[in-house]
Amino acid sequence: MNNKIYNMKSKSLIIISGPSGVGKDSVINRIQSIDSKISLAVSVTTRKMRLGEKDGVNYHFLSRENFEKKIANSEFLEYAEYCGNYYGTLKKPVEKAVKSGRKIMLKIDIQGAEKIRKIYSDCLSVFILPPSIEDLKERIISRNLDSEHDLNLRLERAMTEIKSACDYDFVVENDIIDVCARKILDKIYE
Ligand code: 5GP
Repeated sequence: MNNKIYNMKSKSLIIISGPSGVGKDSVINRIQSIDSKISLAVSVTTRKMRLGEKDGVNYHFLSRENFEKKIANSEFLEYAEYCGNYYGTLKKPVEKAVKSGRKIMLKIDIQGAEKIRKIYSDCLSVFILPPSIEDLKERIISRNLDSEHDLNLRLERAMTEIKSACDYDFVVENDIIDVCARKILDKIYE
């Protein structure tokens, strides 16, 4: 693993946030390809599955009704509404990882990050920024995954999220995926 000596007592829970389209998935995949010991918590969502996504891999895709049942059963560590859909982190896998000291990443929005910080005050929170706002707009538009309505919501939302970057422990720009992933890994094992 890059011939580095890593500090094994480093933080167990790692929050990865950033505006839609910033490349969180690519950075997370790169982190995991460098260090396979770091897992990613699979969130639950009510949004529609996108082309190329798999149930149980990208998300657990649920109806609103079933999501609300999980809320009622207190199965979520946190959940939030984002652009009209529910997203939530399941308690069990996270608690299990943290208890055993295994590293686990949560790919969550700023509302989720705020809640997790209150529960796990010693977590590491990372915010990924785009190289520029123009670049982010181009990325969201060019990936062409969302309807025009969703796209505008996500662009609006992105501007709000970027303002919260200062609440995070570590802010990093995603210009080159590999460089961004390695900077986050250095921070995790600091
Ligand atoms: P997307 O629809 O693009 O996959 O995700 C939209 C937003 O929801 C992203 O900012 C993503 O990080 C966030 N998100 C994904 N899973 C969760 C979750 O479990 N909880 C919260 N609070 N946000 C999430």
